[in-house]
Amino acid sequence: MQDMYSQSLADLEQYCTRLGVPAVHAKTLYRRLFKDFDTAPWNTPGLPVLLAEQLRVDMRCNEASIAQESLSRYDGTVKFLVRMDDGSLVESVLMPEKKRITLCISSQVGCAMACTFCHTGRMGLKRNLTAGEIAVQVVLAQRWIREHASWREERGYPWFASISNIVFMGMGEPLDNIEGVSQALRILSDPLGLNLALRKISVSTAGHLDGLKILLERFPKVSLALSLHATTERERSQLMPINRRWPIGTILNYLRDFYQQRDGDSCLLVQYTVIRGVNDSLDHADRLVELLQGVPVKLNLIPLNEVEPSRFQSPEPESLERFRDHINAAGVRVMIRYSKGQDIAAACGQLVVNAEKRKTSPLSEPVTIS
Ligand code: SAH
Repeated sequence: MQDMYSQSLADLEQYCTRLGVPAVHAKTLYRRLFKDFDTAPWNTPGLPVLLAEQLRVDMRCNEASIAQESLSRYDGTVKFLVRMDDGSLVESVLMPEKKRITLCISSQVGCAMACTFCHTGRMGLKRNLTAGEIAVQVVLAQRWIREHASWREERGYPWFASISNIVFMGMGEPLDNIEGVSQALRILSDPLGLNLALRKISVSTAGHLDGLKILLERFPKVSLALSLHATTERERSQLMPINRRWPIGTILNYLRDFYQQRDGDSCLLVQYTVIRGVNDSLDHADRLVELLQGVPVKLNLIPLNEVEPSRFQSPEPESLERFRDHINAAGVRVMIRYSKGQDIAAACGQLVVNAEKRKTSPLSEPVTIS
């Protein structure tokens, strides 16, 4: 059996053609699946009997579900704990803003990158998510928005409000699961599917060069985010083991070439988690500016979210502002970004799932939303 949510429209068209039925029926199936959230699209009236019967033999919809939802009292952020068919749990985070609704999704169960300051990194990698398990996170969140009128109304959204942006900034290193993520991008960006333009989807990486090359060759229009966090090879290798395999200098050279060939219609989002006494001096700011020379960037400074137990601390607000002002003065576009959903442990680096622990000591109290 194959997962319907893992099929691109082209896959379904080929499926129809192989069966000898008009490929146009694939479009009907896709609409039922992604616009009507129908989990048994083979029952759609008007499908050729042959197609409907064969689909029932070959396909199923994965049954991922929202196992728990937590609503931030401060900013309306909702964290979903999503349970996959095999019991694996991942998190997605819905972040409402004035003009957009962003969903942060996971690409793996756990993560192999082992960045020293990241909670998810401590889980290790359990497995890759399939394309269907990535896409279904968007389906579940989209359906949740449709079903929660009060959440929409409190934020002034119309009834038809929908997710406008996706960020691959949940659990996992998306480029370490390049096949699953590539297929998910085809599905999410299909106008008959979830209809998210590739430039509205950000793939965030700790610096996985092999995956990056494949991604940009297949999807040159996708938005890219790079988690930088350090300014020298030595310091970065200490914080982020992946730097020993692919030094940041190599990654940035590759990206410099990529953006130069692209005539300035897009830029790289650089994330820099600011850690007190580790990467927050004015020398770091100077080196950061130098390192990014020639790459069109928007720099987001994220004060470290302290995850217990940890030897790392958040910066002092004044020193964070000084750091920002110093970079700004050098002409780099820079913003301080406070993570959303702090009260529900939905913030960067806090996504971690330990089902056993959670039963006895949940990271946050679930809030039921009517
Ligand atoms: N593996 C990808 C996707 C994860 S995105 C990547 O590294 O880009 C999650 C972001 O949150 C990354 O930039 C990560 O480095 C950052 N992060 C991890 N732990 C954090 C913490 N404790 N405080 C602030 N940011 C953190």
